Amino acid sequence: MDVTDAMISHKKRLIQDVVKLQNTIHQKNRAIKILEKELWKKCKHVWVRVNDGDDLCSKQCSRCGVYCLASLYT
Ligand SMILES: [Zn+2]
Repeated sequence: MDVTDAMISHKKRLIQDVVKLQNTIHQKNRAIKILEKELWKKCKHVWVRVNDGDDLCSKQCSRCGVYCLASLYT
């Protein structure tokens, strides 16, 4: 195996790692969404104003982090 073959193999392993990590991120984001739907119903929200550039929702719960916009969670 020459140097180029080794580089190509290394690149393929890195791409496989990226795919695995992207899958992990996707699964964890899905778990967060499921949790947020439950928190939307169950948390005693403490709404605070936020200014994060998102015009859709200007309030966020300081306890659980959901935004004050039911359509995101129902
Ligand atoms: Zn809350």
